[in-house]
This record gives sequence, C-alpha cells and structure tokens, in this order.
Amino acid sequence: MAQEDYYNVLGVDRNASDKEINSAYRKLAKKYHPDLNHEPGAEKKYKEVNEAYEVLHDKQKRAQYDQFGSAGVNGQGGFGGGQSYGDFNGFGDFGDIFNDFFGGGSAGGGQRQANPTAPQRGQDLDYTLTIDFMDAITGKKTQVSYTRSETCSTCQGTGAEKGTHPITCDKCHGSGYMTVTQKSMLGMIRRQTVCDKCHGRGVIIEHPCKTCHGKGTVDGKNNIEINIPAGIDNGQQLRYEGQGEAGKNGGPYGDLYISYRIKPSKDFERNGNTIYTTVPISFAQATLGDEIDIKTVHGKSKLKIPAGTQPNKKFTLRGEGVPYLRGNGNGDQVTTVQVQIPESINEKQKEALVDFVKAGGGSITPQEKGFFERLKEKLK
Ligand SMILES: [Zn+2]
Ligand SMILES: [Zn+2]
Repeated sequence: MAQEDYYNVLGVDRNASDKEINSAYRKLAKKYHPDLNHEPGAEKKYKEVNEAYEVLHDKQKRAQYDQFGSAGVNGQGGFGGGQSYGDFNGFGDFGDIFNDFFGGGSAGGGQRQANPTAPQRGQDLDYTLTIDFMDAITGKKTQVSYTRSETCSTCQGTGAEKGTHPITCDKCHGSGYMTVTQKSMLGMIRRQTVCDKCHGRGVIIEHPCKTCHGKGTVDGKNNIEINIPAGIDNGQQLRYEGQGEAGKNGGPYGDLYISYRIKPSKDFERNGNTIYTTVPISFAQATLGDEIDIKTVHGKSKLKIPAGTQPNKKFTLRGEGVPYLRGNGNGDQVTTVQVQIPESINEKQKEALVDFVKAGGGSITPQEKGFFERLKEKLK
C-alpha cells in the first residue's frame, strides 16, 4: 500500500515547527478517535494520523523521513541506539490530548482510559522516621535508606533491549484498550476492555530488556541525606521531591513523604512550640523569693521567683521554647513551680518554724508522726 505523505496526513507543510505538528495532531487525533468518531474510515484515518505523528514529532525520525521517506523510518533497526525513546518530547502533549478526551488524566478506577504510553509520574512513598526529642529541637542531618523502584538503567525505562524500541500496539493503536461490541438481550452493547495484545500498555516489546524483563523499572535501594529542620513536630510530614518510585514511560519520579515521630523527653514536655517543665522550690524560696537556674531545651536559664509565690504558679520564659519551623525565633517555655513541704526536719528547724508562727502572733501545736494513731486512741 502506498504510504500517504506524513506531512499531508497532518496537513502541515514540510517546514512546520514542532508546535504546529503537535497542534495539528491534537486536532486530528480528536477528530478521528474511534471512541468519538464512528464514521467508516475514521479508525483508519486515526491510525494514519498517529503513524505520521510518531515520526514527525521525533526529531531524529523526522530527519530520517525527510531524507529517506517512509522506508527510512519503517524498517526495523533503521535507528541506532535506544536513547531517543527516553525523551518523548511530544508525549507531554499526547497526554494532554487524552486528558481532553476523558476529563482529567489519572482517573481513579478508569485507569485503562488514560493513555498508557504517556509519561506517568511514579508513586509517592511514605516513610516514618523516629528521632530523639532534642534532635527535633536542634535539627539534624541524617541518612534515610529504603527500597523503591528505579528506572532501569539498561533500557532507560523503555523495557526494550538495547538497540530496539517498543512499538505501538497495532491492535489498540497505542490506547491500551479496545472497544468490543457484544450482543445482549437489549441489543448490541459497546464496551471497553483492556487490549489483549499489549495488556493495556499500548506498546509491544518484542525484545524485552534482560535487566528488567521488560518492566522498565528495577528494585533499588535509595539512600538520601536529609536535613531534619529544627522545630519539626510529632506527626508532621515533609515532602522530599523525586525520592519516590520511578515513573512510567519517562515520567518523573514520585515524592517521598517522611512522617516524623518524636521520642519523649524525661525533662521536657512539648506542645507545638511551647515547652513545659516543672521545678521544685522550697517553702522558704516561695515565701522569701529567690533566683534559680532552670533547664531549658537550649541549656539553662535564670528564673526569678518573687517573694510570696504560690504553689503551681506558672512562669513564662519568652523565647526559650522550640524554634519555629520557618525561621524567626522560638516559642516559650512555661515552668510550673512545685512548692515542696519537707517530710522531716531537725529540731533546730522545728524551733525556728514555731518561732516563725509566734512572730506572726499565732500559736501552733506541732504534732509527732503517727498523729492519727494517737488521735484514734484519744477518741476511744
Ligand atoms: Zn494494544
Ligand atoms: Zn530494562
């Protein structure tokens, strides 16, 4: 069969730019797509349009075609090297066209309706990283290592052995699915099904890559160094771009999401950027006032306790808390004082306390330990 000139098929002239070719293809593919156009001959036309586009949108193939005509591009092995498959210039547009058709590319269940040969972004991965309490305050560089799928380096992800190319499936014209017509009680029903020749891939790989067995990806170990930002909080998740699974058909890698789990501290409690601590002080310190050192996540800080401080009073130390993730200072530390009542005192302390009460004009009857025991006897 005499081949129609590819430029004529797309209706562009021989000097057409890539943009003109893409736009002509877009229009015609839509016009003749077998799902949208049921006129006789449309499917054949669609096939021709795809064939022409496949050659003309690829710089190397187009040059060959210009020089040798269709013989230059149809002969298998006419092209050296498998590298050109990797950089599908036109395929971004190709994907768009199908989005136009089906309203949004990666539809949940309708996977077979997306163009299977368009670049697809790889899956995102989740990873939980448990870190020490203080590392979350100060930040830290660390290594994360995990298994993910990576683009096969032997075939650059094409799945085809070096020197060969996957070819567009002739049964589904690269769409990955086909329309079958079935008789039913209600008449003829048209229904879409995954192409049984290419199993939905849209391409046939005649000589699969030996490294990845035609998959285009291999399992690999990914090691990345990450900077844990100072101030990261329990349950927060950060995205590490391009560290997920390999894409398909030259699509980009997915992302890695690291969720942080932070180990508790024996000294500090944390809520957001605020640190909570408690500090014991004596009855005398609470009464007379004092200046004490207290622990903070940054080291230590002075705390002035005014005379007459009541039990469980909270003091706020500005800027002694957790750094804000996006820079600009720290939260606060809230420290609660716990006034300690001595469980036992010596005779001298006892006298001093009795004098203290008397000096205030009061009276007191100090009780020995076991007071309740003796009280019970008295009440008998
Ligand atoms: Zn197919
Ligand atoms: Zn491979």
